[in-house]
This record gives sequence, C-alpha cells and structure tokens, in this order.
Amino acid sequence: MSLTNDSERVRSRVLVTGVVQGVGFRPFVYSLARELGLSGQVGNTAAGVIAEVEGPAGPVAAFGRRVRTDAPPLAVVSTVAAESLPPVGGTEFVILDSTAGPGRTLVSPDVATCADCLAEFADPSDRRYRHPFISCTNCGPRFTIITGLPYDRPATTMAGFPLCPDCAREYADPADRRFHAQPIACPACGPQLQLVQPGLETAYDEDALAAAHALLIDGAILAVKGLGGYHLVCDAGDQAVVTTLRKRKDRGDKPFAVMAADLDAARRIALVDAADEELLTGIRHPIVLLRRRPGAAVAEAVAPGNPDLGVMLPYTPLHQLLFDQPGPCVLVMTSGNLSGEPIVTNDDEAETRLAGLADAWLGHDRPIHVPCDDSVVRIVDRTELPIRRSRGYAPFPIDLPVPVRPALAVGGDLKNTFCLGDGQYAWLSAHVGDMDDLATLEAFERAEQHLEQLTGVRPELLVTDKHPSYRSRQWAQLNAAGREVIGVQHHHAHLASVMAEHRHFGKVIGFAFDGTGFGDDGAVWGGEVLLADYDGFVRDAHLKYVPLPGGDAGVRNPCRMALSHLRAAGLPWDPRLPSVRACGGPELELLDAQLTKDIACAPTSSMGRLFDAVSSLAGVCHRAGYEAQAAIELEGVTSADRGLGAYEFAIAGEEIDPAPVLAGVVRDVLAGVAPGVVGARFHRALAELIVTLAERARAARGLSTVALSGGVFVNRVLLSATTAALTAAGFTVLRHRRVPPTDAGLALGQLAVAARARREGTSCV
Ligand code: ZN
Ligand code: ZN
Ligand code: FE
Repeated sequence: MSLTNDSERVRSRVLVTGVVQGVGFRPFVYSLARELGLSGQVGNTAAGVIAEVEGPAGPVAAFGRRVRTDAPPLAVVSTVAAESLPPVGGTEFVILDSTAGPGRTLVSPDVATCADCLAEFADPSDRRYRHPFISCTNCGPRFTIITGLPYDRPATTMAGFPLCPDCAREYADPADRRFHAQPIACPACGPQLQLVQPGLETAYDEDALAAAHALLIDGAILAVKGLGGYHLVCDAGDQAVVTTLRKRKDRGDKPFAVMAADLDAARRIALVDAADEELLTGIRHPIVLLRRRPGAAVAEAVAPGNPDLGVMLPYTPLHQLLFDQPGPCVLVMTSGNLSGEPIVTNDDEAETRLAGLADAWLGHDRPIHVPCDDSVVRIVDRTELPIRRSRGYAPFPIDLPVPVRPALAVGGDLKNTFCLGDGQYAWLSAHVGDMDDLATLEAFERAEQHLEQLTGVRPELLVTDKHPSYRSRQWAQLNAAGREVIGVQHHHAHLASVMAEHRHFGKVIGFAFDGTGFGDDGAVWGGEVLLADYDGFVRDAHLKYVPLPGGDAGVRNPCRMALSHLRAAGLPWDPRLPSVRACGGPELELLDAQLTKDIACAPTSSMGRLFDAVSSLAGVCHRAGYEAQAAIELEGVTSADRGLGAYEFAIAGEEIDPAPVLAGVVRDVLAGVAPGVVGARFHRALAELIVTLAERARAARGLSTVALSGGVFVNRVLLSATTAALTAAGFTVLRHRRVPPTDAGLALGQLAVAARARREGTSCV
C-alpha cells in the first residue's frame, strides 16, 4: 500500500501520560511507528510523551491502541489522548530532544539490574563485563539520581560523566537497548569504584573489590554505597562481627536485614514460597520477611528472638560483585546510619558519620541525589503487605478515589513519610525516619523539596496529625506561610489510608489498632472502632482506658503495662506471674505508687499496649528495645494450631473490656500453659472481637465493608485470621496492600481526608 495518497492520510497528536520517561518509551514509540509505516515524531515534555504520527487511518488508530497495550516493561500508562492535526507529509520518523514546560510526568522508581544486563555483566567478551555500573533502559537508578525534569542526562547525577564514543553510539541508536538510557556508562566513561581504608592507600576498581572481599572474610564491617544510600555490610554467619555491628550501631535487638547471594542462598536460610520468590526476584527487589529455616547458617545476633529474617537479593551490579568470589554468601546489609538517624548518602558525610561504625568504605563517584531506604514487604495470604514502602516503589503515585487540590500531608512522627497530592494522584514519599532529631527534619525538608520538583505539585494546603507536640505538625505550622493547615485525627487517617488505596467510596466499619495516636478527647487512642468515611467518623467502640504508666517508660517496659492491665482488670499481682517477677521489688513498689496516686499516667485505649501486656504475662518479652518488639515476639511464638480456643472480650456499649482476656491469660500462665497457646488464644480472641463488633455495626447501620489499619495489622497471624473470619461472615475486607498499615502509611489517609474537608472543618458520619 502506498503512503503517497495524501487524501487518505491522517495525522494524530497523541499525548501519553504516566510513568513514561526513563523507561524506554520514546524508542518504543519509534519502533512502533516504523512497524506501522507511520511518519512523524516523538518527544518528551513535562506533560508526558507526545507523538505525532501520520499515515493511513487504520495504522494511525492501531498506534493509538498499541501505545498503551504494548508499552515497555517499566512504563505505566495512565492516559492516552489523541487529537487530529492536518497532515504535513513526509516519510521520516524522528525522536526529538526533550523540552521542559508545564504539566506533569511521573518518574520511575529505581529498578534492580535486569536479566539482559546481568548476562552482559557475566560475559567476558562484553565491554561491560563486571562493570559495577551496568544499566539500561529497563533497569538501574532513576529516582535517586534525578535532579530535575524532564528526565535527561543533564538532569541526573550522571551529568558529570560525558559518554564515550561507544556509549554515545548506543545512546543515539533507537534500535539499541540503551537508547536514551540516561544512567548508562561503561568502564571507559563511567564512575569509578574505590575502597577507602584508614591508614592505607585508596584502592580502585578490581583492586578495591579484592580488598573489600578480603575485609569481609576477615570479619570487618564495610560501608558500601548502594542506590539510595550507604549500607553497613558484614558476614551474616559471623556472630562476633554481627554483635560488634549491633553495638556500634546502638541497635538494641532490632533485626538486621540480610542480602543472600542468589535465590538458592536465600532458600538455604529461609522458607521461600512462590509469592516470596516473585517479590525477591521482581523489578523492585525489596526486603522480604521470611520464616527462618531451622539451623540456618545465620548468626543469632542478626535477628535475636525473631523467627523471621528480612532477606533481599542483590539489586545492583556492585552487590553482584560482593558475592562473586568464595566468601560469605549471606551478608548483613543494614542502613548506614546510627539508630534513628537518616541513611547516609553523601560520600564525605559517610566518612565522618560512619567513622565509628565501618572499618572501610566501598564507594564510587556517582552522587546519590536523594536517599531511599530498602523497602520491606511481607506476604500474608499470598498478598503483598508493605511494611516500608521506599526503594522500587517511591515515587510511584497512587491514584486517588477523589480528586484533591494541591496539598502536602506531612504524616506522623514515627516512621515518617509524607504525601503530595494533586488531582487524581498522590505521591507517597520514600521512608524518611523518626522525626526526633534535626538530621531527620532536614532530610524531610530535602525530600519534600525534591518530590515537589519531580511532581510539579505546589501545595496550597498542609495536612497534619492532630497531636499538638508532633514535630511534623509543628513543621507544617511554621512553614505554612499563609497556607491553610488542617489536622486529621490519627486513626481516622489510618482508615482513610486503606480506603484510599482501595479507591473505596462510602462508609466503612473501621478497625484502627496501633500503639499510639492522639485522641479527640486528649487520651492516647489505639484500639479504635470507627464508623468512617473521608468526611468524618463516629467512635463506635474502643478498648477500655487503662493507665499508661510514665508515658514512654510504659511503652519501653511491657511488664509495667502488664501490671497496669492486671490492676485495671481487678487481678492481683501474683508473684508467680512472669511480669511480676520481671519487675521485681523496687520497680513494683514504684509502679504501685504511680498507679495508686495516678502520677504521670495517661489514659490509653492502645491495642499495642494490650499486646505488650499479654506478651509479658506469657513470659515472652518484658522490655522492648525497639518498637513493637513484645508484639512481634508474641506473634513469633504463637502456635499455628487453630483448634486451641480463644479468650473472650467483654463488650458494653462503646467500651471493649479486656478484663476477661487477662483473667484467661493469667489462669493459663499459672497452669503452665505454653506461651504459644496463650498467644494463639489471644489472637483468636481479637479476630472474634472484630467479627462481633463488625456484625453489631452491620445490624445497626447496614454497613458491610470493614477496613483494617494501624500497625497492629502488620501481624500476619491476626491479619490472616481476621480476614478469613470477616470474609466468612460476609464482609468485604479492605486491608493494606500498597502502603504500610503503620504510621508510614498515615500521610495518604491525611491527604484523602483533607481532600474532602470543607473550609468550616470536617463533619461526622
Ligand atoms: Zn538492564
Ligand atoms: Zn562509555
Ligand atoms: Fe498509628
């Protein structure tokens, strides 16, 4: 068929939005247009990829369809809009340079090394054989190296590495896998690996690697520069070095993640099912929480008292090189920071801030523009449950059920993430950290500026938690500059978060169970049943208030919480109980006086604290060295046997009284019942409580959708049992699968609530 009959020719301008930059979209469009015999052009703009195609009507229409259906693996097409233009003739199809301008495109997250690159990397005849920075259009760094839009090499931290002639040829060839792949490099033109060791001369490239290997085998701790920051790395099988790392990092008992050389190595230390394997090997390569294999060759100090291991596979070529010689095939790989501080990204800072932590530094001269921690995921019922949503996920947007005006939700103070929203999209940030030090606050500000820059969102509204002393809230008030600031109740935000990620409209029966959130009555909430929509909520039920003795001290000492719960339930402090023994004489007396005279006791309905109490009463954990340790360890010992029965809560109107549960726990513990059985009966009791309260709300209000949120629902045993019981009872269950149920997902809910807020304030259901 001839293309010269101009009367039959049509020209169409096609705007494609979504994640379409840095993912090989223009070469894809180029090949597609040529295959269809179309002339025209394609370019990146800040609004998206714009193609003009010209030819017979049939192929032009096919182009409009296939630009969506055949898109490259990393692309996510949100919209395709076409308009007719007058034909201009011509036979060429050209790729235009990028133009900056108004509008919005979506930036891809960082992506693990692809199979094609790995094959070249392993091929001695390839010019990128063992190149620590191999990448292509389908893989490599994105988010962490982009300094501005549109996404082109000058707007990345690779700007300082001019392409050599070979790389330039690939970059310019539309038929090449590296066509316009911004981070590409080779040994001739790319960044250089270096090993810095105090007192020794700096080693480069293969010498640096050889020295790094020797150090790892010798039991040293290395700081290794990754995609989104430095890791501290050591042999996971070496109890002595892992213990040293734990001490240097001031880490308490909080588990370290490990990196296994490959899937086989992961299988040797942990149980990996099909869903786990898909996550471990997929483009995101998160840390996956896996059940540890009995007798696994991993030092006890990696995850003390924890039946799970956080495992990931190498996701950069440099990681591959750490494993390619005889030596440890499982490495501890933990964020390069002191406990609580943000991850270190800057090379000079790495050498100063990690000075007491690392013995040597394996780094390179490709700068990291923004930090991005490893993501953490666990599989529950073959479904992804995000625990930390960062590398590989951020800044991928979440499409909202309701359009929002340009807004910034600042999240909470623990495990902070923030969220920018505009129109249909919400961009949840990468993990920022706990907002208790200046460094984290500065990291928050930098990350917020960067995300504004990438998304083009200029917030005209700020959204915060209602806690008056949250630093995130204070930051928003200080930086409002005349913009409106809206406060959203903590547990309402949790529920709105899970509703928003499911694009759910309408009211839900919401169970928001967590450790701590500021309640509308000034109490510490955390065991909340809210009938809620985005507009507001009614508090339908909550755990009965008990005193939280000494605030943070009560949180750090689960045994004290156990005694507070016993007192509230009218149960004696029997000296045979593990919690009473754990406290001992002086602490008991002090606690007794504190509770009797009501000194520094905040009333709390926290479900997290009830977990602490039961964990301690069962003799599992009396002192918490990291957040939720007592609950995590209780879950860890809990028997999977479903025929063990359940304790029972008492429900009186709005109040859920755990007294009968505690009486049951005490009876069992004194009778010598195993902690695993106590744990099973407690988890079962909670699942049954949720179903009972959901049925009550269904009968009273006709609601049939249940939302589960809050940090307690990281608990696999509880989440799985609750979902099954609710589903069996005919409820639709909304649970987290895209953002964490913890405070790390709070900002999304804040944004969704604020989107609906009337200027006068929020209404109620
Ligand atoms: Zn690749
Ligand atoms: Zn090169
Ligand atoms: Fe919370």
